[in-house]
Amino acid sequence: MSWGRAEIVIELPAIRHNVRVLRDHTGVDVMTVVKADGYGHGIVPAGRAAREGGATWLGVATIDEALVLREGGDTGRVLCWLGVPGEDYAAAIAADVDVTVYSEAELSEVVAAAAAAAAAGTARVQIKVDTGLSRGGAARQDWHDLFAVAADLEREGRIRITGIWSHFACSDEPDHPANDAQQAAFEDALALAASAGLEPEVRHLANSAAAILRPSSHYDLVRCGIASYGLDPAPGHTPDLGLLPAMTVLARLALTKEVAAGDGVSYGHTWHADRPTRVGLVPVGYGDGVPRHAGNRAEVLVGETRRPVRGRVCMDQFLAEVGPGDDAGDLVMLFGSGQLGEPTAQDWAEWCDTISYEIVTRIGGRFVRRYNDEATR
Ligand SMILES: *Cc1c(COP(=O)(O)O)cnc(C)c1O
Repeated sequence: MSWGRAEIVIELPAIRHNVRVLRDHTGVDVMTVVKADGYGHGIVPAGRAAREGGATWLGVATIDEALVLREGGDTGRVLCWLGVPGEDYAAAIAADVDVTVYSEAELSEVVAAAAAAAAAGTARVQIKVDTGLSRGGAARQDWHDLFAVAADLEREGRIRITGIWSHFACSDEPDHPANDAQQAAFEDALALAASAGLEPEVRHLANSAAAILRPSSHYDLVRCGIASYGLDPAPGHTPDLGLLPAMTVLARLALTKEVAAGDGVSYGHTWHADRPTRVGLVPVGYGDGVPRHAGNRAEVLVGETRRPVRGRVCMDQFLAEVGPGDDAGDLVMLFGSGQLGEPTAQDWAEWCDTISYEIVTRIGGRFVRRYNDEATR
């Protein structure tokens, strides 16, 4: 295997396994969310692995992401959900992508695009309702009119309303009262939609945390992002389902050297050696998505030993304390599944005061991504 300076290795069998576990655990259809380049795992390979694991839907934020899936050969159901005025809905309709609307204004844009692309068939539209996240989705006071307009358009044969859905604010805190409140609001929306004459093919509310922790929220479909990549959506609450982290992040030491007692290390000298210390130069930094917050906090695996990051993370490089046997060229694991004793993305998230989502999604830059497709685990 030829091997460069820094690699992100993606285990596609792990994604397949995780999607299968989520499907079996929930007993409903699964939409694997592959937005933001598959949470850093690669949108097309992650999408393909998800389909092989049984995902009936793929979910993305933008139309462009949906089109990338089509160009990559995906022919299954795809939903996108974050448009701006002037969006190219015609392209989405022509590519057989289900689009989401939050408002009558968006719905009119989709209808205009559908009319222009009439030969491509009827546009498939899902309506997102805001049940309390106060982010995307139709506000409660607009539900009635939006449903009425949508039902009229559907009767005229200009669109097909394929879904009604919403998104939780606090599903990673299963006892948070917002979960019950949002689900009750979602029930209200579904009842209102039914009385307007809408009969959506799929009603969906749950993300990974709710898919795992809140069976009552499953409806027809669960939208699972982070758990598909083997990471824990609700640390401290999630039962062990045997999910496998799919991403391993590796680099090779560029250099090792001894620093003397009292020497300051890296920018700002935020760490000083208290004794003669061997340090190793890891040739990746915040330009590659290694969080600067990891300075003096994170650990890496060098050889078979956990070693602390010393001093600040720079744009292209950082330092770790290493052992006497460690040398330039040696392998460093920043994070992975944890099976070899290496830290996990969740460990990095805790060191950096963030969530594992941000760790895996931001890592990239000059790392080379490589895929392991062998079912060895
Ligand atoms: C990102 C996203 C998801 C996936 O959330 P996870 O917590 O990663 O499972 C689901 N639904 C919507 C609307 C999203 O934006």
